[in-house]
Amino acid sequence: MRTVRTVSEHRALVAALLPPTPVEVVPLGEALGRILAENLVTSTALPPFDNSAMDGYAVRADDVARAGGDHPVRLPVAQDIPAGRTDVVALRPGTAHRIMTGAPLPAGADAVVRVEDTDGGTGTVRVDVAVPAGNHIRRVGEDAALGALALPAGTLLGPAQLGLAAAVGSATVAVRRRPKVLVLSTGTELVAPGQPLRHGQIYESNGPMLAAAVTEAGGVAELLRFVPDDVDQFLAALAERVAAAGEVDLLLTSGGVSAGAYEVVKDALADRGVRFVRVAMQPGGPQGAGRLTGLGPTGDGPAVVTLPGNPVSSQVSFEVFVRPALRAAMGHPHPDRAVVLARLGESLRSPSDKRQFRRGELDARTGTVRTVGGPGSHLLSALARADCLIELAPSAQPHEAGTLVNVWLLDR
Ligand code: AMP
Ligand code: MG
Repeated sequence: MRTVRTVSEHRALVAALLPPTPVEVVPLGEALGRILAENLVTSTALPPFDNSAMDGYAVRADDVARAGGDHPVRLPVAQDIPAGRTDVVALRPGTAHRIMTGAPLPAGADAVVRVEDTDGGTGTVRVDVAVPAGNHIRRVGEDAALGALALPAGTLLGPAQLGLAAAVGSATVAVRRRPKVLVLSTGTELVAPGQPLRHGQIYESNGPMLAAAVTEAGGVAELLRFVPDDVDQFLAALAERVAAAGEVDLLLTSGGVSAGAYEVVKDALADRGVRFVRVAMQPGGPQGAGRLTGLGPTGDGPAVVTLPGNPVSSQVSFEVFVRPALRAAMGHPHPDRAVVLARLGESLRSPSDKRQFRRGELDARTGTVRTVGGPGSHLLSALARADCLIELAPSAQPHEAGTLVNVWLLDR
């Protein structure tokens, strides 16, 4: 008897096959989109010193207290302090230092008058307004104190987070290693794109699609040469690579797992640690997962997930099972796609015993979602036009127009 699993059961099983990857330290330039694995503590205060928020003049507020209206105050300009000057001399009472944005405030000064409120003089300066103490000064540590937690472990590193890491003095960050994923397509009918096609053959599209999906999820994909429906050739392609040096976290195959004859992946891996099941889902019913045994070096082999061959089944299965598991292995705070509730723009039928994922297009303004193309799992053009997946719970009744449904937002 074939095992039938729910979508969430199979999701949990695949996720459990991919434990957190080891932590590595990488330069900031390689950290975009990765997840901080350790708390990042500042090694300098931010700002590191009191500095001017404006181009203008550093003064003592008391010295310009009487300025205003038609009675400006004139002060000799004793120093010029551009940004980057490190030898700043103290301000003597009754004088001003010309100062630029980001330049260190001289000792003795307690305010900055912006250049617009002066005549901009270099020998002496005419100050037209009085300013309070503290005016236009950015205080040391007001953004982040020395030794403060700048970014907690688990933070997704985007541009702003990498900017902050640099600003507090970190040249590198600790992140989890990107999972390495081997992608292997199967099918005697497959021909590489760019080659002539004979009647009965099709172009191999799952490999490039799944490799791109792995990359997009943050993993490192290695596309193996695809193999015909021949167990020996399949195992040879695998043994070649698995025996070779280099870490592999996941073997991702497509095709050859259904109920027909010539199911090469099933035939090759059923006795090698992979369990083949049916998931109550459409598309993507036939699935397999496990840990590879009996190939290559001793010890635990890589995790294996075997996806069905129909291109839409393959890609939707990747979205539902593999992408969240890969992201969780990297410590991602949000392994799943963003899911929003939207109203169906049409009435839809779906299987009574399976969770269905339809390709959709969301009108975010009205919160209405419509299908793109039919439910057929060979309809790759429709998938390529879709910007979301519509999740339909098993139901004997039609899902009426206007019903609220879960919509998985794809990055497009
Ligand atoms: P299978 O799961 O091997 O029975 O394949 C199901 C369907 O998907 C068949 O129509 C195959 O030709 C097609 N298919 C399988 N693998 C690929 C692939 N790598 N690229 C494009 N189509 C594929
Ligand atoms: Mg096949």
